[in-house]
Amino acid sequence: MPNDPDVLIIGGGPAGLSAALWCAELGLDHLVLEREDQCGGQLLWTYNRISNYLGAEAENGRELRDRFLGQLGTIADRIRTGIQIITADLAARTLVTPDGQSFSSRYIVIATGVRRRRLGVPGEHELSGKGILSSGVKDPHAVSGRRVVVVGGGDAAVENALILSRYARSLLLVHRRGTFTARRQFVDELASAGNVQIAMNTVVTAFGGDHSLNIVELLNQATGRAWSEPVDSALIRIGVEPNSEPFATHLETDSSGYIRIDSRTATSVDRIYAIGDVTNTATLTIANAVGQGSTTARAILDNLSYNR
Ligand code: NDP
Repeated sequence: MPNDPDVLIIGGGPAGLSAALWCAELGLDHLVLEREDQCGGQLLWTYNRISNYLGAEAENGRELRDRFLGQLGTIADRIRTGIQIITADLAARTLVTPDGQSFSSRYIVIATGVRRRRLGVPGEHELSGKGILSSGVKDPHAVSGRRVVVVGGGDAAVENALILSRYARSLLLVHRRGTFTARRQFVDELASAGNVQIAMNTVVTAFGGDHSLNIVELLNQATGRAWSEPVDSALIRIGVEPNSEPFATHLETDSSGYIRIDSRTATSVDRIYAIGDVTNTATLTIANAVGQGSTTARAILDNLSYNR
């Protein structure tokens, strides 16, 4: 497969796969580069039922991903997995991987999505998978009878805290501010659970444990009180951040690193387009990512015709 198609699509989540389908539909030669060893993006870590994507309900993200790939049929051959882009010369539309592979194209579509934000405190990395959970809903039984701490104050943190509180012996929700941004219904339901404590204005300063998590260090920023709590499991849900690093220095982004696009998904650099969550769309939905995939292919076709 050549490394210089007309359109290089970086990222094989819903946005990138939709762009690939539409490129094929419109006769645009394309190639998808996916960093992970399989496509799907956030669908791979979506464990709950998906019932709001019109026309295709699924038990979880992986099932929907499989349907997307199934619909691509032979176009799926135009996906290369395990290809990470570390540097990009967007003016020359050339991309380079850590092992020196180079890709170039007439158009680039950035569909690299977002990743979970990390706290960046001691023990977080070391104890991941050793008490620090990657998901709450994937296997809530895993916390049966355990002491759990959940970090964050948005919908994800409070909803996961609610789910885990049904299994845990005790649950502590730690949030750095004095108010939640999570929806009221979740907060009210959580506050009325008998085994839940909430620590507001509080940050985690470290996770500890030799072989597995057994303690969390906390600091109340309003009072200055520092203390530790024994815990068995932790879940960190403090939002997401964009995978825009290789491109951010070349393109206009907002202050959080999300790539700015116009209504036809064009970025600030000619022939570079961006779609999906890396553009921080107003609605972070699969439907929106898929819609932007079609918009970008159409916009590229129009640009190509204009420049012919
Ligand atoms: P959000 O961005 O909504 O919330 C992030 C939370 O993490 C905020 O409370 C924020 O605090 C806190 N936070 C951010 N950075 C840090 C940090 N470094 N240390 C400590 N706390 C931090 O992210 P979510 O993942 O909760 O939600 C993302 C989107 O998904 C939202 O639109 C949400 O509505 C949606 N969602 C919907 C669900 C549903 O409908 N059932 C379930 C889950 C998510 P602060 O306020 O201080 O910035």
